[in-house]
Amino acid sequence: MEIEPKYRRVLLKLSGEALMGEGMFGIDPSALKFFANEVFELHKLGVQIGIVIGGGNIFRGLQSAAKGIDKVSGDYMGMLATVINCLAFQCALEELGIETRLQTAITMTSVAEPYIRRKAIRHLEKGRIVLFGGGTGLPNFTTDTTAVLRAIDIGADIIIKGTKVDGIFDSDPMKNPEAKLLKLLTYNEAIIHNLAIMDQTAFTLCRDHNIPIVVLNINKKGNLVRLIKGESVGSIVTN
Ligand code: UDP
Repeated sequence: MEIEPKYRRVLLKLSGEALMGEGMFGIDPSALKFFANEVFELHKLGVQIGIVIGGGNIFRGLQSAAKGIDKVSGDYMGMLATVINCLAFQCALEELGIETRLQTAITMTSVAEPYIRRKAIRHLEKGRIVLFGGGTGLPNFTTDTTAVLRAIDIGADIIIKGTKVDGIFDSDPMKNPEAKLLKLLTYNEAIIHNLAIMDQTAFTLCRDHNIPIVVLNINKKGNLVRLIKGESVGSIVTN
């Protein structure tokens, strides 16, 4: 008997760096294919999926000063980078026969639809995966905050933040082999301990809107489906 999905509508956040795979910059076609397949498995369960992708594999506003570009222009470059990533991921999903729509917070109608909340929800209801590009459209924010804002707008049951580690740890597991995985924590714990998994604006928004965040290892095949089927995967932050 097929298990009912635990979550009906999800917002998946992928960092731009995830798309780099083993590389140091840009988009790795095999990483793209891998994540598209993971999302496809979720889609097959009937889960409605919105996706926000970062831009860190191409450009981050913070890098701009060093390059002689002012921070705000750098942020816009970062936001445009997210659109490049979304276009690539859209192609990878469509390769699998999934219907998708890309909506951007910065209007570019010859490339994508503008972000319109009601339209995004309608696409989801029709079984289309909606990619949200262009961040919030505003400098000085991140794509984590974008993910939370879009999750609130579309009424997502959960935000899934895909990372390269198994969840939230009490210290950086890449540097400290003794780091302990925290399976369950509150928003306030995440905020007070300044856990570097999401920025504080994003955590605060989640807390105020009571949307749970699951942080899981997106590089582990099947993790998304395991989560949706109700298994305990990664770390969960709730009230
Ligand atoms: N950015 C922005 N406003 C937004 C979202 C993103 O200015 O609403 C810029 C910011 O410079 C950021 C870059 O886009 O550094 C790429 O996004 P992010 O760093 O969140 O990507 P990720 O770390 O997830 O790859």
